[in-house]
Amino acid sequence: MHRLVRAVLTGAALSATLAAQSPAPAVPAGAERAYAELKERVDGAAAMEIVRYMDQYWRISGNPGFNASIDRIRDGLTAAGVETRVEEFASRGRGWDYQIGTVSFADTGEVLLSRERDRVSLCINSFSTPAGGIEAPIIDVGAGSAPDFEGKSVKGAVVLGSASAQQLWQQGVKARGALGVISTGIARYIRPNDPARFTSPDQWDVFQWGSVPYDTDAKGFGFKASLRVANKIRERLKIGAVRVKVEVQSTFYDGPSRMIVAEIPGTVAPDERIVMVAHVQEPGANDDGSGCGTLLALAVALQKAIAEKRLPPPGRTLTFLWGDENRGSRAWLTAHPEQAKRVQYMFSLDMTGEDTAKTGGTFLVEKQADPSAVWARPSDPHTAWGAGEVKAAELEGSLLNDVHLAICRRRAQDTGWVVKTNPYEGGSDHTEFKNAGVPALLDWHFTDRYYHTNLDRPDKTSPAEMVNVGVAVATSAWFLASATEQDALATVRLIANAASARLALEATQAATHEILTAWRKWYSEALDSVGRLKPGPRSAAVDAAIARAQRDLLAR
Ligand SMILES: [Zn+2]
Repeated sequence: MHRLVRAVLTGAALSATLAAQSPAPAVPAGAERAYAELKERVDGAAAMEIVRYMDQYWRISGNPGFNASIDRIRDGLTAAGVETRVEEFASRGRGWDYQIGTVSFADTGEVLLSRERDRVSLCINSFSTPAGGIEAPIIDVGAGSAPDFEGKSVKGAVVLGSASAQQLWQQGVKARGALGVISTGIARYIRPNDPARFTSPDQWDVFQWGSVPYDTDAKGFGFKASLRVANKIRERLKIGAVRVKVEVQSTFYDGPSRMIVAEIPGTVAPDERIVMVAHVQEPGANDDGSGCGTLLALAVALQKAIAEKRLPPPGRTLTFLWGDENRGSRAWLTAHPEQAKRVQYMFSLDMTGEDTAKTGGTFLVEKQADPSAVWARPSDPHTAWGAGEVKAAELEGSLLNDVHLAICRRRAQDTGWVVKTNPYEGGSDHTEFKNAGVPALLDWHFTDRYYHTNLDRPDKTSPAEMVNVGVAVATSAWFLASATEQDALATVRLIANAASARLALEATQAATHEILTAWRKWYSEALDSVGRLKPGPRSAAVDAAIARAQRDLLAR
């Protein structure tokens, strides 16, 4: 009896493991060939060098650190022989950076916040104080909602609170004439509010960077602070009134927003493109120094494999963009309408380098919007980022998710890389391409407990993780640009198998008729898209295989 129970349990445990890490589907021969040539060529050290370089700067479109990062990436591409140009667009708002941002106790001079120690503590759009700084009382408004301000005189003071800097700004500076704010506002997934529930000592020191409105009337300032610093101020406030000294020296810039456009031209259908995008702005090592470094390393790997004649040039053009998140993509799509119409597939690379042992989350493929983005499915949980707004009528199936996932799993077979997916949520450059009707997905990591914080530094970045993502995206991009008829036939099988697996999965999680119908429609369209996979003229054999697979799918 005992042995029998054990055998049954072992069997159940085994099938659960298999379901979690379901066996990787075979990738088409063309993808396997590209994978074999690219897997040793994506240089993690070169990607890490870009992360470290960009970490020097708080990059904001139009500011010197943004432009220096653009120049550095462009030089890396040019040195490797990739065709590269820099395009310029109108910037969002004004560029901004700062040289001094210091808060100290006025009496003891003890420094509470500074650029040297905290790097991103001053809020974007903070104006300079008069040279030498100002002195003012600091007033604690607790949570910082409107009632918390009642009975407190904050005019001419600095406001401390746990609301967002934007909210404290509206209530304190705009409505009541405060000089500036210090906010400990932080997302719940970074740390719990209650220190008794902290799981790591650095939760005392972590804060999320932020911004205040660009306000030429108030000309105020905002700071973000850790709980440790806020508590230090509150300890003093228990004894009596406290004055702080604040010195800010900041600079605004009106230059254009620069974007790198690098291309490996296609030989069969050069007007058709596979586009890959990483964003330069923001201060983080992982967000998105890692995406920028990964994209450079994979572009150079492709260029080298082609130059060394280990891989043929792609059939479609491979386009690599580095710019201002979302706005840059929108500007590129608007400036090149003919190219935009013929973009076949798009990959967004954002937060691709997380050292998951430190940051917490795993690698995720945020899928092109499929039915799991419309109907919550137990098998497809959303991240802490939260669901996007996707309507059933917007869905149009393509091969992108299943092909890229198969290639990621191919990489995982060799390296033990943990690959998961989440339904479409949106927020980075893939959103702009999706809105332009292009099948687009995001390669990222979440939850990252250092997301948008002072602690998103190079020590949280893993070169091996960037290599995994770089190899997978390079393989997928080359394959989607260069597939043969045989590859397309193999892809029909891959998509048909993925459709069967999805319908079988949905049978185990009580899918309604509406949901099953949506998946059949989505996969029927995904099969259609395989007819356009091979660049150049359509193949009758592929079209026949698609028609057969669609008949089988609709008969299920
Ligand atoms: Zn990002």
